[in-house]
Amino acid sequence: MAKISPRQTSFAGRMETMRVLVIGAGIGGLAAAKGLLEAGHDVEVFEHAEALRDGGAAVTVWSNGTAALGQLGVSLADVGRPLHSLRSITDSGRLLWEADLADVTERLGSPTIETPRRLLTGKLAAALPTHVLHFGRRCTGVAETADRVVARFADGTSAEGDVLIGADGQRSVVRNQVLGGRPARMTGWASWQGLTRSDLPMAQGNQTVNIAGRVAHCGFIPAGGGLLHWWFDLPWQDGEPIGSVRELRRAFAGWPDPVWPLLEEIGPEDVGFFPHIRHKVPRIWGGPRTTLIGDAVHAMPPAVAQAANQTLEDAWLLSHLLGAVERHPEEALRSYECERRSRVLKVSRTAALTSAQRSTPLQRLGRMPKSIATRSQVASLRSGSTVLRPLPAT
Ligand SMILES: Cc1cc2nc3c(=O)[nH]c(=O)nc-3n(C[C@H](O)[C@H](O)[C@H](O)COP(=O)(O)OP(=O)(O)OC[C@H]3O[C@@H](n4cnc5c(N)ncnc54)[C@H](O)[C@@H]3O)c2cc1C
Repeated sequence: MAKISPRQTSFAGRMETMRVLVIGAGIGGLAAAKGLLEAGHDVEVFEHAEALRDGGAAVTVWSNGTAALGQLGVSLADVGRPLHSLRSITDSGRLLWEADLADVTERLGSPTIETPRRLLTGKLAAALPTHVLHFGRRCTGVAETADRVVARFADGTSAEGDVLIGADGQRSVVRNQVLGGRPARMTGWASWQGLTRSDLPMAQGNQTVNIAGRVAHCGFIPAGGGLLHWWFDLPWQDGEPIGSVRELRRAFAGWPDPVWPLLEEIGPEDVGFFPHIRHKVPRIWGGPRTTLIGDAVHAMPPAVAQAANQTLEDAWLLSHLLGAVERHPEEALRSYECERRSRVLKVSRTAALTSAQRSTPLQRLGRMPKSIATRSQVASLRSGSTVLRPLPAT
């Protein structure tokens, strides 16, 4: 049984320190732990794996994600690659639009950075005292009353706290325990992606390119240190064979640069496969002492690359609101969910539509002026963000 620190209550009855249990040490769990420690709470993070899970390719941390990280006191200035331009072209190489991300950075006050996922989790973990992280602890059950919450683990141990945050990803045990089992649904698409050292000039640049076909899409993003993050999206149904590099070469034959040179550079060992899924996002995300963050509650397709960013926003807002808690945390938990749900729903809907309609005949007709593409990028980031807008009242 983990040690329970005594709750400190001032003479006025204000709860000064809560003991917060965080389940999962992914981007969300680590970021929430950092924010909650800053807010003065006792935090314990319980991770199923034996060490930080440093797999995966790279993540795009947009202006909203870097702003949330900034509020949490974490800078990405020394990792990854800042992005200055986002271009969308057709599979015949015609420019559809280009957004000036340097201008977006200026307007929103925070940059867009592509970083290998392991560098982001490494940065977040390095910002925590080591005693906060407990590896090899798979959460198997959660029980709560109006006053306390208890997490049970596969090794037979348990931990008790004032609040528990389920940050345990798309197959969340916490979600299943507190809300019942409604797994995320497959969207009918999948990505074949990777992060490889590349000799292509764009691996050294600051420009990201999305290429939109009628029934397939792909993209290329420099991630710093000569690394290139690339992805190929195709319709995919559960049960069909998983694609190989040879199949990718067949599906994307004749596409513009850098598709072919990249497909020549990579081998089967470089390709990671993940089907796209999407959660139905409930109104309430927990009980009197519990809530969820990130993929545990709003896993979404990667089309607008916002999953990690929305997760960072969750972590920041939740720790901010729990920092101001007096007496019972439930009100703060529900305020957090209400604000975040409204943003996340917009972003998740856009992500689902973008997968299906990246290149409609209408879109392929014209070219959007750069100034409009840039302004629409700013508007879309703002409308799906909490941290880029005035804070809700606490
Ligand atoms: C290994 C890995 C690689 C990824 N690669 C990419 C990528 O290349 N590109 C991309 O855009 N996104 C990637 N993602 C997803 C991306 O990190 C998330 O969409 C986003 O950051 C939301 O993060 P999260 O913290 O909510 O969930 P996650 O990042 O999934 O983290 C959840 C954490 O909870 C842990 N966990 C799960 N169940 C339990 C349990 N019962 N008890 C305790 N711990 C538990 C997991 O081991 C994991 O560390 C990856 C995720 C993981 C775990």
